[in-house]
Amino acid sequence: MSTLKNRKVLWGAVRMFAAVAVMSLFMVVRAQAAIICLDPGHGGAGTSGAGALYPPYMEKQLNYAVASQVKSELEAAGHTVYMTRNGDVSLGLDQRAAYAKSVNADLLISIHFNSSGAHDKFGSEVWTSMFGGHRTTGYALGNSVLSQLTGLGFASKGVKTKLGNSGDYYGIIRHGVSFGIPTIIIEHCFMDNPIDRAIMESKGLPALAHADAVGIGNYISSVGGVVPKSDPVVFAEGTTAAGGAGAAAASDPFKTKYGFPKDASGNVTYTDGSGGTAVFTAAEWNKLLGLWNYTGDPEAFLKQQSAADLKTLASR
Ligand SMILES: [Zn+2]
Repeated sequence: MSTLKNRKVLWGAVRMFAAVAVMSLFMVVRAQAAIICLDPGHGGAGTSGAGALYPPYMEKQLNYAVASQVKSELEAAGHTVYMTRNGDVSLGLDQRAAYAKSVNADLLISIHFNSSGAHDKFGSEVWTSMFGGHRTTGYALGNSVLSQLTGLGFASKGVKTKLGNSGDYYGIIRHGVSFGIPTIIIEHCFMDNPIDRAIMESKGLPALAHADAVGIGNYISSVGGVVPKSDPVVFAEGTTAAGGAGAAAASDPFKTKYGFPKDASGNVTYTDGSGGTAVFTAAEWNKLLGLWNYTGDPEAFLKQQSAADLKTLASR
């Protein structure tokens, strides 16, 4: 029965079966894959782009180390991954989001480590947009990552949103969602706090990065590899009805945004919550504002610090 014609039919069937098998394998992989833009927070020469500082840790370095490993792990899982910065370079938050848009990212994930003025705060937290589908996606993705980080021993402070005076408070989120890209900030832990620091040092940064990669991968699997599209969220500067922290910017040239007295030369007299005071030159004050510029409302952060800590930072 083995005629030439039968052999041809048989081989045709085998080839077709093989092609279908390869194609469906490819589709399974494709269906679970996403384009992810990772944003290692901060960056830039010396301490100017350091983000949080707590010797021997510089936040920008921790962020970069973690993001690099998350990239490798997600790529190994079949995802396409980009990073907003390669190396220790300074980038604006708008530039980072524009880059995510340029690579057609499904998600923008900004990698950070936290610190607090009194070193008494601890726990992992994720920030996301307050608006529409961005919030839904950010909550699901954020909770997936937090469930992995708590597995390492960190306390979860949850997925949070914060309104600023022109949309979302945090710049990377505001810019990310303005391009229609669901965006989150992962604050892994407070690197200046004994509780968090003990976990970070005993588990090691690779364990934190692995937690991120698993959390992100699980979220993408949960939506079948197709991250829901969300409309761009854009506010004109200062138009969010509810206002926000520091919505009333200083119109008095002799006061800072939050009302610290400023003399004609720009020297600012700062008083902290415990009554400690310090006087900063205009240059020092601007330098301090620069440290928290990424938040979109630097003075709001600055005013949570002690006068003594700020004096140290200003002289660094
Ligand atoms: Zn940061």
